[in-house]
Formats: sequence, C-alpha cells, structure tokens
Amino acid sequence: MSEELRELYQEVILDHSKRPRNFRALPEASQAEGFNPLCGDRATVFVDLQDGTVKDASFVGSGCSISTASASMMTEAVKGKSAAEAEELFQRFHALITAPPDQAGGAHPELGKLAVFAGVCEFPVRVKCASLPWHTLKAALQGAGATVSTE
Ligand code: ZN
Repeated sequence: MSEELRELYQEVILDHSKRPRNFRALPEASQAEGFNPLCGDRATVFVDLQDGTVKDASFVGSGCSISTASASMMTEAVKGKSAAEAEELFQRFHALITAPPDQAGGAHPELGKLAVFAGVCEFPVRVKCASLPWHTLKAALQGAGATVSTE
C-alpha cells in the first residue's frame, strides 16, 4: 500500500472514530451486544429490518478507534441493503482485514469506503476490533437479544 493511501485511510478512520455516524440507540429495532475482551471494545448494534431490507442501523458503546470507526462505517454501509447483502458485505470485509499483508492494497470497489480497513490486516490484534461490530450486526439480524464475543 502506498504511503499516501495509508495516510488517507488513517484520516478516514480517525474521522469516524472521533465523530461516529449513527451513534444512537434504536429502542424498537432488533439489537445485539458485542464484546471483544482482547481490547475491551463493547458495542450494541441496532438494526431496523423491514421487509428484509435494512431500513436503519445504529450503534452505541465504547471501544478503541478501530472498533468505533468500523461500527460507524458499517452502519452507513448496510443501510438499504438486504440482510443477505449485508452478510455478503461482512464476508468481503472479513476477507479484506484477514488477507496476508502483501495482498492488501488492491482495488476493492465492492467494499467502497470500507476499503480503508485494508491496513488492519497488518495488525492481527486489531482484526477483532474491526470485525466486532459486524459479528454483532450478524447476531442482531438473526434475532434480538443475542450477545456475541470475539473470544
Ligand atoms: Zn479495539
């Protein structure tokens, strides 16, 4: 990955961690709690599924900048998608952040802005921070009240 790209990616992650989007509860929506004991990240993800489509998604919680930015960008990315599409996006995202570092940095048009997490694969301990909101989203899509842990 080029130095400029890396800096741009870090800027986007920093922006989302400082000013997370969709950082609010949706009390009526399906929700799940996620915990990453390795880092201490906690996230509650809310998903308002209507006719099989994610009408709204949000989260609350406290975590490191990677987990907060990941949750923020995830809630933006899944809005308007079907549950199956959201799950597919998670699989692609997971493949990106767990790729061998020498294979990162390629084009990922299908991931859009989520490609900024490509650098995470260089820090294996951070992979769980980035994937926690997604695991939690998956649990929320499958049914209310679930609690997931990355361990
Ligand atoms: Zn973390």
